[in-house]
Amino acid sequence: MHAIQITETGGPEVLRYAEVPAPTPSEDEVLVDVTVAGVNYIDTYYREGIYNAQTPFIPGFEGTGRVVHDPKGEIAEGSLVAWHHAFGSYAEQVCVPRNGLVAVPDDFPTEIAASMLLQGMTAHFLSHGVYELGKGATCLITAGAGGVGQLLTQMASSLGATVYTVVSTDEKEEISYKCGADHVFRYSDGLGEQVRRFNGGRGVDVVYDGVGQSTFFESLEAVRPRGTVALFGAASGPVEPIDPQLLNKHGSIFLTRPSLGAWTAQEGEFQMRAQAVVQAVMDGDLKFNVSASYPLEEAEQAHRDLQSRSTTGSIVLRVKQD
Ligand code: NDP
Repeated sequence: MHAIQITETGGPEVLRYAEVPAPTPSEDEVLVDVTVAGVNYIDTYYREGIYNAQTPFIPGFEGTGRVVHDPKGEIAEGSLVAWHHAFGSYAEQVCVPRNGLVAVPDDFPTEIAASMLLQGMTAHFLSHGVYELGKGATCLITAGAGGVGQLLTQMASSLGATVYTVVSTDEKEEISYKCGADHVFRYSDGLGEQVRRFNGGRGVDVVYDGVGQSTFFESLEAVRPRGTVALFGAASGPVEPIDPQLLNKHGSIFLTRPSLGAWTAQEGEFQMRAQAVVQAVMDGDLKFNVSASYPLEEAEQAHRDLQSRSTTGSIVLRVKQD
């Protein structure tokens, strides 16, 4: 089969289109033909070697496609499914853990099915779990026009929270307002100062920071005393270790570094979050913006675009015609 293979970690150029052996599913897995694969920031961390995988490896975690073979015979051949955690998804075939499969209705838009779970469930656990937003709550979201950012803004807004976002361009500002942001800021002006200007000097209840290195200390400035900073990613690079006294200085604030893995680990939690996302899409309450799709061979360009901040919403790789 064809796949994107990484033989040594590095820049986008290490993503090579290659002919590789098809994988064989274990008893706990199901083999699927991939139609479309989701592209996520975490894929760049593996490509760069920030997260470790043994080389050679096929990157990617997320996608949609049709079941080819279930060793246990429980899932019918041809069933349309989506997943968010099958390492090696930038390929024509991948083995998906049986308990990580979500059934997809036949009329569901394919590119949305390929990119809804990882970013959608992340937005869900951040807004419904890490800090339970509701009427009267205030939050700040970094990269408001990004994949997670657009979904988190919509969820926060529909829960009744006042939503502040930060973006880098006019185009992204417009997108973020369309998602329901109440005020959209730019990075350059000091996030703490901007937030306080709008909310009576108080600071927000929670900052959702997926940008990391370049915004982290500003996030600490923007949160209210005893509020929460959820550092959920590192698009600008990882944050250096900090002195815990800093949390005291900002008013006994809570700092968490949450992951989707931990927030879907409890009994029934993965299905609950996945169903919430699928249902919200079907009801028209959650709009996905798949802003770019590339043929599998052009994974390199997809990563270049994602890391140069030129994308908005989600991006995907077209693998096979369904
Ligand atoms: P995005 O679509 O949000 O892309 C990243 C965005 O970050 C860019 O568009 C850009 O928006 C902003 N950014 C700011 N500084 C930089 C920089 N120096 N280089 C690149 N981008 C920068 O990506 P995703 O939606 O895929 O992911 C968003 C974050 O969420 C990532 O950090 C990812 O790791 C994290 N994540 C965490 C999960 C978890 O379980 N903890 C699960 C899923 C995602 P702008 O130009 O407006 O600043």
